[in-house]
Amino acid sequence: METQIPLPSEYTRAETSELSNRIAARKEQLGAKLCVLGHHYQRDEVIRFADFTGDSLELSQLAAGQSGAEFIVFCGVHFMAESADILSSPGQQVILPNLHAGCAMAEMADVEDVAAAIEEVSALTGAAVIPVSYVNSTADIKALTARAGGACCTSSNVRNVFEWALRPAAEGGAGAEKVFCIPDQHLGRNTAIAMSRREDECRLYDPHLPNGGLSATDVERATFILWKGHCYVHQLFRPEHVTAVRKAHRDIRVIVHPECPREVVELADAEGSTSQIITAIEAAEAGSKWAIGTESNLVNRLAKRHKDKFICVLNQAGAACTQMCRIDLPHLLWALDGIASGQIVNRITVPPETAADARTALQRMIDIKAVTSVTRNL
Ligand code: SF4
Repeated sequence: METQIPLPSEYTRAETSELSNRIAARKEQLGAKLCVLGHHYQRDEVIRFADFTGDSLELSQLAAGQSGAEFIVFCGVHFMAESADILSSPGQQVILPNLHAGCAMAEMADVEDVAAAIEEVSALTGAAVIPVSYVNSTADIKALTARAGGACCTSSNVRNVFEWALRPAAEGGAGAEKVFCIPDQHLGRNTAIAMSRREDECRLYDPHLPNGGLSATDVERATFILWKGHCYVHQLFRPEHVTAVRKAHRDIRVIVHPECPREVVELADAEGSTSQIITAIEAAEAGSKWAIGTESNLVNRLAKRHKDKFICVLNQAGAACTQMCRIDLPHLLWALDGIASGQIVNRITVPPETAADARTALQRMIDIKAVTSVTRNL
């Protein structure tokens, strides 16, 4: 990844009100040539300037549909800007205001390590191993996934993608004997169990150990090989938080993201992707109480938006994505000033061959019918 240059002091020393006014003026000036995207986990002062908010894939697809928008400024993290570039139309340029905004989970899976791991696991038993990569992965991983016969997934459609991967090729599936889930172990384990698979059908692949720490017998018994990656934000949620919130609030319902550890998901009333959690809260009855196990900028915004319900972050200490928070007002204004002056900064471009293969992995996922409801108990 390229390095972020330090911002000139006119950005770092400016007051919030001045930065906000100048961003609003730049947006006005650039008009329909500009499309600002804001991920659900983005901080409030930035997201108020977003033309669209959503999860990473929704936003990339939306941006691609804005054919008049020459400049797509993605207020998210690096892999999201890559996906936007992969799906963008010719003539669109994707900009990430701060190059230090990377996803810690996506960075846990290096493409060369993953390629070697797929080969190692295949060689241990001779079984057909098909990768399924979460959209929270680099463009290189997505491209590798396509070349190895796999597909991408989101936290909304992962179950359908796993089922597709395990279906025989004669029935339109990928014919996998083993699914290699990259890079989030929790998403893989929680999904496998939601599919009524036994937990011991999942085996963790640790890239720091020979053969990932797996024996031929381990692989033989496994249906799901899980890359040892995680999201540090969702890993902040612990079983004791569920116990504490239930003690503090009678009749509260706990809903968590499938990036949370298994022991938290087991104690929750429901699990669902970011979009599914938002939909569940919107549909909930007035007066209902919710503790939500996902990123706290989003949860706090839901609480403000739905004042007729009690909504809190499951972990009272908070769970903000500090990677996403690296997109702040100074960086956003700096990126917009660059567009206005013709000196584009922080353009994200995926090499054409990688982009073509990554697009294949994304398209395979889109062609598999998506699940649209919360995955459990709602
Ligand atoms: S919340 Fe976790 S998975 Fe999402 S961008 Fe932040 S570090 Fe990555």
